[in-house]
Amino acid sequence: MKTLEGRVAVVTGAASGVGLGIAEVLAQDGAHVVVVDREAAAGERAAEALRAAGHDAMAVAADVVDRAAVDAMAAQVLERYGRIDIAAANAGIYPSASIAEMADAEFDRVMAVNVKGALHTMQACLPAMRKQRYGRIVLTSSITGALVGAPELSHYAASKAALLGLMRSAALEVVGDGITVNAVQPGNVRTPGIESFGQEFIADMVRSIPMKRLAEPAEVGWAVRFLASEEAGYITGQTIVIDGGQVLPEGVGNL
Ligand code: NAD
Repeated sequence: MKTLEGRVAVVTGAASGVGLGIAEVLAQDGAHVVVVDREAAAGERAAEALRAAGHDAMAVAADVVDRAAVDAMAAQVLERYGRIDIAAANAGIYPSASIAEMADAEFDRVMAVNVKGALHTMQACLPAMRKQRYGRIVLTSSITGALVGAPELSHYAASKAALLGLMRSAALEVVGDGITVNAVQPGNVRTPGIESFGQEFIADMVRSIPMKRLAEPAEVGWAVRFLASEEAGYITGQTIVIDGGQVLPEGVGNL
């Protein structure tokens, strides 16, 4: 596979977890990586760690819900590098709430970060990609909602299924511009966010995963790297599931 040498990659939610894993993999493959996160200090630390490892990276603090902040981020990237080749719209949240008790504000917040945030990221990066007649957009969806359900995560599940609809429709809108739009669907990934659910939750998930372990963030990053590569240019509107076989078993006897 060709490297991503010289490519400019924007990764949202890249200060931690899956986003950091994506940023590391893309940087290791030669991309200039823009670490976008609402946590400014954590974003700076992540970019600094990438630079310390010999890669090129910059941090831009932005909340993906804030359209103006995301547009300003893209302007800053264009000022520094003159192009945007890859946009990994990964920032997302997954707070728990039962349907019975979910407030409108909780539902709206999850949809705003997970879906509208991806929309803003695409919208901010598309003009440069269209001008270049080259772009690779990869959304971080999930198995949750798109393939399976999860109690107390219905708003999250709805948002991750919505991302696939957004992805497929966007893919058709930009298909003539040399731009592809795809998604990754991770199962359970070992990240600070998932670890905050506690060891009991993780042990329960591990029991349900045929490979008997969570994914590492880099394993999602490797799938993103493929979809972000030149070689994936004939693939658009598609997803890669990275779940250790979690959605496969027909019964517990098969685990
Ligand atoms: P995490 O909480 O460990 O990291 C999320 C990062 O995104 C943090 O750095 C946070 O500051 C940033 N972020 C959150 N809201 C933001 C916003 N509004 N604007 C900018 N940055 C924001 O979470 P994670 O587990 O790494 O999850 C990252 C993505 O991967 C999410 O979209 C999540 O839905 C998806 N995902 C995770 C798993 C998993 O098992 N960890 C599985 C499937 C999908």
